Amino acid sequence: MSKYSIDENGYYGQFGGAYIPEILRKNVVELKENYLKIINDPDFQKTFQQLLHDYVGRPTALYYAGRMSEKYGAKIYLKREDLCHTGAHKLNNALGQILLARRLGKTRIVAETGAGQHGVATATVCALMNMECVVYMGETDVKRQFLNVQRMRMLGAKVVPVTSGNKTLKDGTNEAIRDWCCNPKNTHYIIGSAVGPDPYPDMVARFQSVISKEIKSQLLEQTGRDYPDHLLACIGGGSNAAGTFYHYVDNEDVKLYAAEAAGLGLDDPKKSAATIQLGREGILHGSRSLVMMDEDGQITEPYSISAGLDYPGVGPMHAFLAKVGRTTVLPITDDEAMTAALELTKMEGIIPAIESAHAVAMLPKLKFKKDDIVVVTISGRGDKDMNTYANYFNLGE
Ligand SMILES: *Cc1c(COP(=O)(O)O)cnc(C)c1O
Repeated sequence: MSKYSIDENGYYGQFGGAYIPEILRKNVVELKENYLKIINDPDFQKTFQQLLHDYVGRPTALYYAGRMSEKYGAKIYLKREDLCHTGAHKLNNALGQILLARRLGKTRIVAETGAGQHGVATATVCALMNMECVVYMGETDVKRQFLNVQRMRMLGAKVVPVTSGNKTLKDGTNEAIRDWCCNPKNTHYIIGSAVGPDPYPDMVARFQSVISKEIKSQLLEQTGRDYPDHLLACIGGGSNAAGTFYHYVDNEDVKLYAAEAAGLGLDDPKKSAATIQLGREGILHGSRSLVMMDEDGQITEPYSISAGLDYPGVGPMHAFLAKVGRTTVLPITDDEAMTAALELTKMEGIIPAIESAHAVAMLPKLKFKKDDIVVVTISGRGDKDMNTYANYFNLGE
C-alpha cells in the first residue's frame, strides 16, 4: 500500500470520503463492497480488455513529437487519448462502469454531463450494452453543446435539460444524484470523472489507469526505460490525470505536473476554474475536497474557455497529491491554452481538445535537460472545439 493511495475509509489524507444522503447509502455501500472484487475478476478483465482493444481502439499511440522536442529541448512524447473511439479518454471509464453495473444486475444508467463528452461516452456504452440511458444536462449546456445532445439522442439516450441553479454541470450532477436516490435498485450512476463519494474516485482512477499502464510498456519499447522524467496532464475533475499518474505516483523520479484552467487569470475567482489554487476545503458531490466557493460557502460558477475544465471541484486524489507536494499544479489561462493548441496543430498536425491544450501549455513553463523524457497526455481531440477555435483565431467565414 503506497502512501499516496486511498485508505480503507475512502480518504486520500483529509480528502475524499462519502458525504451522501442516507437514502443513497445502500447503493454506495453496494458499490464499495463489490467494485474491487468485480474489477479484479479474471472474467471481468477479459471482457474489459477485449473491448478496450476492439471497441475503444486501445492501445492508443505514444507518439514522439519531433518538432516539439526540438523546440523545447527534450524528448517529448504525446499519449494519444484523442484517438479513442468518441474522441477522448472518457470512454475508458464509461465502459468499465457499465460492465460493472451489469455485473451488479443494473438495467438502467444515469449520468451527468457538462460539455456533453461524458454524456456521449455513456450513451455510447449504453447502446453497446442495450441499457436504458438518461443523461442530465444543464439547460445552458444543452444550448451550448447541441451537437453532443444530438449525438446522445441518436445513440438512444434521453437527455433531460436541468433548469435549476446556473443550469450547468453542477446542476446536472445534482439531478443525476437525485434520480439515483429515487431508483436505487435498478439504476447505476456513471460519474464522468475521478470525483464523487468513495469509491468513485478510486474506481474511476483504476479504469483510467490503462493510460499509464500503456505509457510504461510503450516507453520501454521506444526508449529502453519505462518511466519519463516529466509527466503532464490537464485536470478538470481529474480522471485523465489520475490515469496518467496512476502507475507512477510511487516513483519519485517521475515529476508530475497538472494543468488547471485559470480562465482569465487568478485575480478574479469568478473568471477562473483553478480549483486547487483558489478553492477552499469543502464538500461537493459527495466528497471532501477543494471547492470554488464564496465567503458564505456557496459554490460559485467557475469559468474557463474549455467546457470540460470548468468544474467547481477537483477529485480528492488531486487535492491530496497537490497538498503533499507530489504534483506541481500550474494554472493555465485561456490564452496560454489557445496558443498551445495552435502550436501543436501547426507543428505536429494534431488539433487537440482545448482541455488537452492546457497540458501542452505547461511545456514553455518548465525547464528540461536535453535527454529528459517528457510525456504529455492529449486527453481528447479538438473537433468539438472547432467553433471556439474558429472564433478565437478568426479562421474566416
Ligand atoms: C472531460 C474532459 C477533460 C476533463 O476531465 P478529467 O476528468 O479531468 O480528465 C479533459 N479533456 C477532455 C478531452 C475531456 O473531454
